[in-house]
Amino acid sequence: SLLAASTPRTVLLASPRSFCAGVERAVQVVERALERSSGPVYVRKQIVHNVHVVADLESRGAVFVDELDAVPEESTVVFSAHGVSPAVRGAASSRQLQVIDATCPLVTKVHVEARRFAARGDTVILIGHAGHEEVEGTLGEVDEMRLVQSVEDVETVDVPDPSRVSYLTQTTLSVDETTEIVTALRRRFPALRNPPSDDICYATTNRQQALRSVAAAADLVLVVGSTNSSNSLRLVELAERQGTPAHLVDDVRDINPRWLVNATTIGLTAGASAPPHLITAIIDALAGLGPITTEEHETARETIQFTLPSPLRRT
Ligand code: SF4
Repeated sequence: SLLAASTPRTVLLASPRSFCAGVERAVQVVERALERSSGPVYVRKQIVHNVHVVADLESRGAVFVDELDAVPEESTVVFSAHGVSPAVRGAASSRQLQVIDATCPLVTKVHVEARRFAARGDTVILIGHAGHEEVEGTLGEVDEMRLVQSVEDVETVDVPDPSRVSYLTQTTLSVDETTEIVTALRRRFPALRNPPSDDICYATTNRQQALRSVAAAADLVLVVGSTNSSNSLRLVELAERQGTPAHLVDDVRDINPRWLVNATTIGLTAGASAPPHLITAIIDALAGLGPITTEEHETARETIQFTLPSPLRRT
């Protein structure tokens, strides 16, 4: 790292990066709930998959729990951006909890589709990662939904009527990998029906698209995000698939100085759940090692915003 200490560097900033509209909204929901509630505000699961966001809200009084049985009856609970299954909603109402739902509207869209597709008699195939909270919530909407995680899974998925099959996806998947899986599904089930618009959300798609050109030009890619953040992990994979070494870091302290040796062009991005100040801190740290030039590589401009759940809107 001493060798690299004064090397001039270029930092390519992928844009869009960092917070999406669904994460902004979820964080605001907890902030407003804290302002307005007289009692404690519980949050089921991490509000978004980021250690800094969770630690910050925790320091301001939010109480994070894994399951609703840890929430005292009649208290206020926030559902995370990833959404919940109907079973969890049922459990909340039987405990008489005051629910504030921070589920991203683009996740709710997928839940609505799942119910609609099942109601028309289709077997619903969900493309996604087993165990991810969003996937657990979506799977809970319909009995007998099938989960497909890879092209290999497509070969073994079993449906009662191959002419009545629809698919849905997790919102934070790799665009490229999902295209391959859908192609394989369509080969097996030529009558396969699509969601009316992509389930992979605009923020996931934009962050992948923005990183593509940056990664191609960089010696090293740093993705700011937590290890359970699906969309951040997909960004690391995207860079690696282009042959550029890439690392997921929660913050500047996770950067191993050895990575920077011979890395004169560094691609920098952040997943949709990672706050923008973490990027600023990394740029400052790199500037402390020697002269840097930063370049914004913007491939899309995001203007989308979601309104807050009605009980929290300011009038
Ligand atoms: Fe919503 Fe997409 Fe953000 Fe997830 S990544 S919270 S689906 S906008």
